[in-house]
Amino acid sequence: EARAAGRNRWVWYANNMASQRDHKRDMAQRIEQALRDDEFTLHYQPRYQLQSGRLAGAEALIRWQPAGGPPIPPDRFIPLAEENGLIVAISDWVLARACRDASGWGADRYVSVNISPVEFRTTDLVERVARALASSGLPATRLELEITENVTFEHPQQALEVMQGLRALGVRLTVDDFGTGYAALGYLKTFPFNGLKIDRSWMKDFPESQQAESVVAGIIALAHAFALTITAEGIETEAQLDQLKRLSCEEGQGYFLGRPMPLLAFAALLDSTSHTTLIRA
Ligand code: C2E
Ligand code: MG
Ligand code: MG
Ligand code: MG
Repeated sequence: EARAAGRNRWVWYANNMASQRDHKRDMAQRIEQALRDDEFTLHYQPRYQLQSGRLAGAEALIRWQPAGGPPIPPDRFIPLAEENGLIVAISDWVLARACRDASGWGADRYVSVNISPVEFRTTDLVERVARALASSGLPATRLELEITENVTFEHPQQALEVMQGLRALGVRLTVDDFGTGYAALGYLKTFPFNGLKIDRSWMKDFPESQQAESVVAGIIALAHAFALTITAEGIETEAQLDQLKRLSCEEGQGYFLGRPMPLLAFAALLDSTSHTTLIRA
């Protein structure tokens, strides 16, 4: 009886693993097909300088709309693409499109692109970024790369060299989702980052909760101690915005300020705000 149950459980695990493997293989093929069929698009979420209210640039966020099916959110396919290596092809597409789009935004607006930590394993990231800049004509100073903190680098020395190469191009580097990973703080000193983005999970009870307020104030102070520019993500209320301004947070983004939107909508927003510093959503 017990042995049968054990065997059944084993069969269940084996089936489950096989179906997971099938699912992964299936997704890999669908991602490759999606690249060929041009099913990916980019949305842009505005990023504002909080003290002046100026529209500073946008974060590029990938969207996948398969023909005849429901959209697939990045959280569902980016981790898979990181596992099977397709992330490089996806990122090349994102970099090329984002740089091309941003080259039409006017002299001092930047675009920020999410780069996966696994891409720092290979030194050709510097060349790939240089290529996207060259073919779009976008100055390197108008490109920012966001690297999530969640994963510690497997080969820190290699990652450091890649980052130095990117900085030498003139590109800015930002830590994304700060406060969600297990990385030791030392990496803020080791790696040549320019900025840090507070993960939106810290905005949840902010500013009502005294604890959330202290943590956010602490992260801002920490970033400033390392001479890093700080961006708050996930700003959903006016109270959050006001308090972040008081805490000397430099930049912010979130649904209260603007949702991710198609290129045309973002371009229209740029036009409408180019002579003002109005940021009310
Ligand atoms: P992320 O880089 O931290 O991006 C911020 C996410 O928070 C986006 O979700 C954005 O739509 C969402 N967001 C922005 N403001 C608010 C807000 O006020 N409230 C709430 N609840 N959410 C907000 P999205 O677009 O679904 O992207 C999820 C993650 O997928 C991104 O997190 C990023 O890690 C990854 N991702 C997206 N596009 C790319 C890409 O082109 N390449 C790579 N490697 N990763 C990407
Ligand atoms: Mg990001
Ligand atoms: Mg992220
Ligand atoms: Mg983030």
